[in-house]
Amino acid sequence: MIDILIKNGNIYDGINAPFTGDIAVCNGKIAEVGHIQAEAAIEIDAEGKCVAPGFIDIHRHGDMAAFRDGFGEAELMQGLTTIINGNCGMGPAPVEKGSSLEGYLRPVLGDMLPMADTGSAQGYLTSLEQAAPPLNIGMLTGCGTIWAGILGYGGKHPHDDDFARFHAILERELSAGTLGVSLGLGYAPECFLTTEELIKGLAPLKNTDIPIAFHMRQEGDGVCRSVEEVIAIARALKAPVHISHLKAMGKRNWNRLIPRALELIQKAAEDGVDITFDAYPYTAGSTQLMHVLPPDFIEGGTAAVTERLRDKAKRKELEERIACGTDFDNIAGMVGWDNIVIAVVNTDANRQYEGNTIMEAAQLRCESPIDCLCNILIEENCAVTMIDFITCDEDIARIYGAKGASVISDSIYPVGGRPHPRLYGSFPRIIQRYVYEREDITLQRAIEIMTSAPAAALRLKNKGRIAVGMDGDVNVFDPRQIKERGSYSDPACMACGMEYVLLGGKIKLQNGQLMKGVKGAVIRR
Ligand SMILES: [Zn+2]
Repeated sequence: MIDILIKNGNIYDGINAPFTGDIAVCNGKIAEVGHIQAEAAIEIDAEGKCVAPGFIDIHRHGDMAAFRDGFGEAELMQGLTTIINGNCGMGPAPVEKGSSLEGYLRPVLGDMLPMADTGSAQGYLTSLEQAAPPLNIGMLTGCGTIWAGILGYGGKHPHDDDFARFHAILERELSAGTLGVSLGLGYAPECFLTTEELIKGLAPLKNTDIPIAFHMRQEGDGVCRSVEEVIAIARALKAPVHISHLKAMGKRNWNRLIPRALELIQKAAEDGVDITFDAYPYTAGSTQLMHVLPPDFIEGGTAAVTERLRDKAKRKELEERIACGTDFDNIAGMVGWDNIVIAVVNTDANRQYEGNTIMEAAQLRCESPIDCLCNILIEENCAVTMIDFITCDEDIARIYGAKGASVISDSIYPVGGRPHPRLYGSFPRIIQRYVYEREDITLQRAIEIMTSAPAAALRLKNKGRIAVGMDGDVNVFDPRQIKERGSYSDPACMACGMEYVLLGGKIKLQNGQLMKGVKGAVIRR
């Protein structure tokens, strides 16, 4: 007998135009698609509803959040059935707890929790399996984490024995079943490596089908050069590459550099380069406040950074470089202090500035913006998260319309403070804003870039499609009713409108209610 029969839905299979039909789910898989007359243990009437594959977010930073109580609600309420962590070069393993590496990763990954084994990917994935997450989770191996363990953060260049160590660790982590690797070229220590050194490090991936995801070196004035670097690495390694959170930061670059970047990608793809990319559906990003500093200011770990920021001469130099520097991803220079919001701090003394821009905080503290920035970073030991308003809707829409695109959220999971609303709302927002409000893309396209496109980019072979034999991850919803409810000022609101979410062939969510006993799987390659 059929476990679950979904009747008379408008089936969006992840690629093609919708058709009316039924879906039978048995033993965790989609068993039949078409017009089905048979008995089922559970029948769902989907007449007038959209039936689509479970949504997939290949770019979250929930590496530690996945172990926290209550994890998964924010995801499942949006229809997410699969998420991938370990992005931007920042993996949770191999990390020695209590080391400087942990301190460096904390603003993005959160505290390394006792039940999470961070010694290796094998240990991490096993501990995640023991935690029995409420949705499917996979991970990338963060190359930045491995390099930091070998080189530290001081801008050292690797020698032959460093490459040998890197290769051995990389191969060990991949053999544990991580889905690919991620690089964080905007962050120490990978920002100090040359293109040739990156290629040499990634040699074990040469001629493989293992995807390499790039947080690129620059995402503002230099975005096209950075895309060219990714393409050069793909050509050298003959391996699939994926550009994470593609964008052109800074008003002077809007509507100008993304068309050019997409052209470069298109040309490379036509030339046989296996290249895909993604974007989050917000004009604001979120990362560590420290990343408004030039790379040489973030050398050497947080103690070295704060010492530098205390130095009067260095502070003067910083002011000048932010005012007119183009030799680095000068976020503050490109968007201005009134577009950088302090989102999360650690100390009670500074909590009052959460939600303020640097400009506002500077006025409240009677400091110049530069002094305010430096002093807050010193007081918080660099652990400050920002929300920065950096891109425009037109570029986001352009990216979603281009061949090879996926939707991501790039969610960070702060404990307290203001998270970025994308954690709760990215996937409903695609439909609400880019399909219905702005009419940039069709519903069919929206579903494609939330399902089959990310599945293809990360080689998730049984996911992202409504087809016989695929995993029984299925969403049922009225597309006009699916809503993001959070905002930048009040972000922590669950999305609404998802009527059913099937996870591995079982009902995980029904009209806003989560079924606690239904668990996801840890995905290994
Ligand atoms: Zn990133």
